[in-house]
Formats: sequence, structure tokens, C-alpha cells
Amino acid sequence: MMANIIDGKAVSLGIKEKLKERVESVREEGERVPCLAVIIVGDNPASRSYVRGKLKAVEFTGMESRLLELPEDVSEEKLLQLIGCFNENSDVDGILVQLPLPRHINEDRVIDAILPRKDVDGFHPQNVANLWLGRKCFVPCTPQGIIKLIESTGENIEGKRAVVVGRSNIVGKPVAKLLLDRNATVTVAHSRTPDLKAVTREADILVAAVGRPGVITGDMIKPGAIVIDVGINRTDDGHLTGDVDFASASEVAGWITPVPGGVGPMTIAMLMENTYSAWCAISDR
Ligand code: NDP
Repeated sequence: MMANIIDGKAVSLGIKEKLKERVESVREEGERVPCLAVIIVGDNPASRSYVRGKLKAVEFTGMESRLLELPEDVSEEKLLQLIGCFNENSDVDGILVQLPLPRHINEDRVIDAILPRKDVDGFHPQNVANLWLGRKCFVPCTPQGIIKLIESTGENIEGKRAVVVGRSNIVGKPVAKLLLDRNATVTVAHSRTPDLKAVTREADILVAAVGRPGVITGDMIKPGAIVIDVGINRTDDGHLTGDVDFASASEVAGWITPVPGGVGPMTIAMLMENTYSAWCAISDR
């Protein structure tokens, strides 16, 4: 039996269409529409392509955007000052600094400089703390998108065994917390986990956020499991491939996300939702 495909492109389109309608009605009421400011430093091709995707989605939903493109050698001080301007600008609801940043810039200081209520990536320590405390916050986009994809299968998360492979601050750790919030029993595996296969085979829900092509193979999957492949890896011939070996995994899993067309588009849709909620909070909606 082949696994059902979780169509991230279709799910994300549905979300963006709903947002587009809401933004249209804001515009019809003659009010200021949500606005996302995006800052990119240097010309890393992957970062450029992510930013293009995000701006395209802003346009699709009818929101506004401000794009600030800075040279690779911009000083940290200058970058912090420009973030300060967006913080103070009441026409800007959300601020996103595309990561990674050049090595001479301290990423932590940059993230800390973004006003928490405009931090639509959910990376500011105040949002991270609130996430772990179970308080209202901006939830990071990729983890939030992963949960929506799992929910789109119609299967319950509560009571399931979930295994997250990877423990980064942007994917592994927050998605583990979101699964815990939905009453899954969660295990977080990483590069020092011995016998990874024995761990992943227990998973009713398996999230792979590693960054290594094919690290999860069919024999590591429990039959019928929901498999979410977060990895975006570029092969030598320029194609994108996930962390999961799709051919062998799709013969065992119950549900599986493709790469591309799985988690990637959902990340962008969640960024649009976060921008809209930043606007709602500022506009007292
Ligand atoms: P990081 O490199 O920050 O984290 C990778 C994690 O995987 C680490 O916790 C590491 O363990 C673990 N790991 C590495 N090798 C192994 C292994 N052999 N077995 C088990 N665990 C291992 O990556 P990110 O979390 O930032 O990203 C992961 C992937 O997701 C990347 O391919 C990235 O491009 C993609 N991504 C996709 C997004 C999307 O929108 N679809 C958004 C963000 C990321 P340890 O902590 O011990 O080093």
C-alpha cells in the first residue's frame, strides 16, 4: 500500500485564500492593510529564493511589504538601527530578518532587537519563553505549519507517540513543544541518539528535521505512521530533496509529505497568518 500524500501546496493555498479574503475586506473598509517588512543581507541564493517566496505570498494575500536589501558588509550597528526604524514605524506590523546572517553580525543581538509584538518568525526570546510557558505568543512558522499538516490528515494527535528527529531552535524544539501541547507523547532524537531506528520505529508521528538527505529510510518507519519531512537539501544536480528517502518510506507510511510541496509552502502560509495576527493586535481586532 502506498502512503497518502499530504499536499502542503494545497493546504497552504487554502490558508492563503482565506487570508486574502480577510485582507480584501480590511481594504474595502478603508483601513490600513497588514504590512510585513523583510530584511535580507548579502546575496546567498537560498536566502534570496526564500525571500522571493515570502514576498510572492504577501502579494497574493493583498498585504503590503517593505523589502530592505543590505550589502553583505553592512555593519551590525547599521542593521540594528534599521530594525529600530521598523520597530517604530506604525505602518509595519511584522519584521522578518532572513537568516543566516554574515559571520560578522551577531544573530542573537539581531533577533533580540526586533520588537516581540512584530516578531512574526517567533524567534525573540520573549516569544520563545511564552511558547514554553503556554502563553500567547508568535509560534515559529515551520513548526506551526507542521502541526497544520498533521491535522490535515484528520488523525488525532492526542495519545500518539511522536518522534522528532532534530533539536534546532527553529524546528525541532518548538515542534516538540507543539506536539506536547496536543497531548502526544514526545521523544526528541538527535545526532547523539544511539540506535535511531529503534526510536523512530516507535513513532505514530515522525518529524524529520535534520538536513541530511535520506537519513530516514522505510525500514525506520512504523507501518501506517504520519511522516513529516522538513528537510530541504540541494542535490549535486540542483534538485531539492528531503531528509526522508521518499521511495522506501512511502511504501510503509500511512501519510507522507513530499519535498518540495510539503512543509516549505506551509512555512510561508504561517508567516502570512502571523503577519495578519500582528496587524490584528496592533489594530485592536
Ligand atoms: P540544524 O542543522 O539546526 O539542526 C539539525 C538537527 O539534526 C540537529 O539537532 C542535529 O543534532 C540533528 N542531526 C544531525 N545529523 C543527525 C543524524 N545523523 N541523526 C539524527 N539527528 C541528526 O537544522 P534545522 O533544524 O535548521 O533544519 C533542518 C532541516 O530542515 C534542513 O534541511 C533545513 O533546510 C530544513 N528547514 C526547512 C524549513 C521549511 O520551511 N521547510 C524551515 C527550516 C529548516 P545535534 O543537535 O546533535 O547536532
